[in-house]
Amino acid sequence: MALAQEAKQPLPQAMKAAESGKRLSLRQAQTLLEKAELLDLGRLAHAARMRHNPEPVVTFAVDRNINTTNECLSGCRFCAFFRPPGHAEGYVLSPEELGRKIDETLALGGTHILIQGGLHPQIGVETTCESFRFIKQHHPIHIHGLSPPEVVHMAQVDGLSIPEAIERLRAAGLGSIPGGGAEILVDRVRELIAPGKCGADQWLDVMAQAHHQGLMTTATMMFGSLETVAERIEHLRRLRDLQDESLALGRGSFTAFIPWTFQPANTALSHLPPATAVDYLRMLAVSRLFLDNFPHVQASWVTQGAGIAQTALAFGADDLGSTMIEENVVAAAGVSFRLPREELVRLAQDLGFAARQRDVFYKPV
Ligand code: SF4
Repeated sequence: MALAQEAKQPLPQAMKAAESGKRLSLRQAQTLLEKAELLDLGRLAHAARMRHNPEPVVTFAVDRNINTTNECLSGCRFCAFFRPPGHAEGYVLSPEELGRKIDETLALGGTHILIQGGLHPQIGVETTCESFRFIKQHHPIHIHGLSPPEVVHMAQVDGLSIPEAIERLRAAGLGSIPGGGAEILVDRVRELIAPGKCGADQWLDVMAQAHHQGLMTTATMMFGSLETVAERIEHLRRLRDLQDESLALGRGSFTAFIPWTFQPANTALSHLPPATAVDYLRMLAVSRLFLDNFPHVQASWVTQGAGIAQTALAFGADDLGSTMIEENVVAAAGVSFRLPREELVRLAQDLGFAARQRDVFYKPV
């Protein structure tokens, strides 16, 4: 009977489910994304945000994105940052440069670094472990580092299994893993936009192994390239399922979900139109509603700018990401918003929230 009703009135039924906090089906999420009014989505997602995080507080971190190398074998079609190995504009950071960047981060009150790089043909697990040991010995800071495609690549370079690779990286100082390189976790899309990168199953397998070994991670989604609406929802479904598995083990190892829009400039897909701010807000809101087992959802001021990031705080986001003292990847696509700590605080306060600095585990600093 309920199914028959839903088939006749899919939108009211999906909105009712979202309003009551019930787990959304794939079909309900797709209906909301395609058909709900924008302001209804905002209202529903904000109510869900307040159920998950009832305190009137918006959090942010102080950190820096350090890209150790831009030389990359993958050549993703959506990426403006990489250079092929051996390219005149290729670089690999020296330990001294790395150390200087970390010291600057610590001096600004940073709690962690987000350290990532291209899939360099010579950089495997052992080279990365040396770098992590150097950091831990000389510049003590939490390392939020790599991404599942990097872990897969590094394990291949050194002929290791994924669990072995993660175990060694952890022992060398890896503290948590950011959810980069997810794009859309559907292989049809990955083959079109990132054919050189690990597949959806491998991405999820790295995260499952990391969770199993006690590492916390985030999850991301880059949308607005060649995926369908159903594929976006399928991406969310795979993340929700993995978080369910982690929760069943008493963990819940995904701390946050971070969606952002594909930035086409300077990429091999530059002919595609960029996603609009409305697309972004709709996707953000449906993510908050569908991922009922994720504690936090981040706004992306890096791709959206201050105004839409602030609006995102009324569309399900409870966190403004970080001050990102340095960011190179989105900047390579010609988008370079900069927001100092004072501006992040103002964005939150102007909406009636208190602003609070957090660490990588979302604990107050
Ligand atoms: S997104 Fe990452 S893996 Fe893909 S080309 Fe850019 S640096 Fe390489």
